[in-house]
Amino acid sequence: MNAFVEVQKLYKEYYKFAIKNNILEVPEDIEHREFGYGYLKKVDNRNLSFKNERVYKDWVLKNSPMHLYKSLAYMLYPNNPGGAEKKGVFRRELAFDIDVHKTNKCKHEDDWICKYCLKEAKNQVIYLIEEFLIPDFGLNEEDIKIVFSGNRGYHIYIKPKNNKIRDIIENYSKDDRKFLINYILGKNLNLNKVGSGWRRRLIKAIKEKDKRISTKKLEKEKNWKKIIENFKSKNKIYKIIEETKNKLELDEKVMDDDIRLLRVINSLHGYTGFIVKSLDSLDDLKKFDPLKDAIFKNFENKFYEVNIYDSRKFEIEICGKKYTNKSKKITGSVLLYLFGHNIKFELLESH
Ligand SMILES: [Zn+2]
Repeated sequence: MNAFVEVQKLYKEYYKFAIKNNILEVPEDIEHREFGYGYLKKVDNRNLSFKNERVYKDWVLKNSPMHLYKSLAYMLYPNNPGGAEKKGVFRRELAFDIDVHKTNKCKHEDDWICKYCLKEAKNQVIYLIEEFLIPDFGLNEEDIKIVFSGNRGYHIYIKPKNNKIRDIIENYSKDDRKFLINYILGKNLNLNKVGSGWRRRLIKAIKEKDKRISTKKLEKEKNWKKIIENFKSKNKIYKIIEETKNKLELDEKVMDDDIRLLRVINSLHGYTGFIVKSLDSLDDLKKFDPLKDAIFKNFENKFYEVNIYDSRKFEIEICGKKYTNKSKKITGSVLLYLFGHNIKFELLESH
């Protein structure tokens, strides 16, 4: 059996289901959006556009790509190759991309995932929303859309329900967007003049890390520098400040790049075969287990006999079952995962 043919069959089956059940994202104002897609590489092609929803869905059904993207930007000429100017960008959605690296508990190679790094990704989303988006930016939970990226992170879209606010946000310039992400990453944090958001966040962090440090003076003052310099434990405080600034693993390019593409919601991620799954709320996120809940259940009812001859050792848990390079029988979801990760195997038989 040819693995690639089988993989394509599964992608096709998924897209048929997603379109029939109306869950595949149809980007708003579709004729002004650019699309990109890929099979073995992430983005083989871009500069694609569709004049309406029907043509888009027909294309996805026919091609069932392993990676599918839409532009965050709205453009007059999405087909034009080149930058923002050539494409006539006139508006752009705002989204954050959190992509985590391995944690101390992870035992796998860099490009694999496990419950620990996925948990870390989830914690970072909660931190971004509860520490920045709601208290500092004044957004409501309903203005935020959380989407599992399909691999090691999440996309967090800012979509204010209030159209006036949405207009303002979606007309931000590149510099505005840069300012936003720099604020979150603490890049323009000035210890001579600490604003209320960062004061709140840092005091909380100091209290959590070391109860012996008195934060009373810091709570009242904006000029932290002169206070900290008089502390005996000043090095410890500086360290906590640095750690707090570096807490989020945000991909700055997703915010920066005018013509950035982001995965279509409810498409499949070609590296994992997992669903780029949209979540309904923060509570929904807290209960979400990507290794189960981002799996297309029909794939779990398909079984394949394989001979894995790759010398790399691996372990992946999908839907509560562990698979390693010794596995002989795998499900459709595992087939997609191994294929996406370029693991060498022979496909012997399917059931
Ligand atoms: Zn891990």
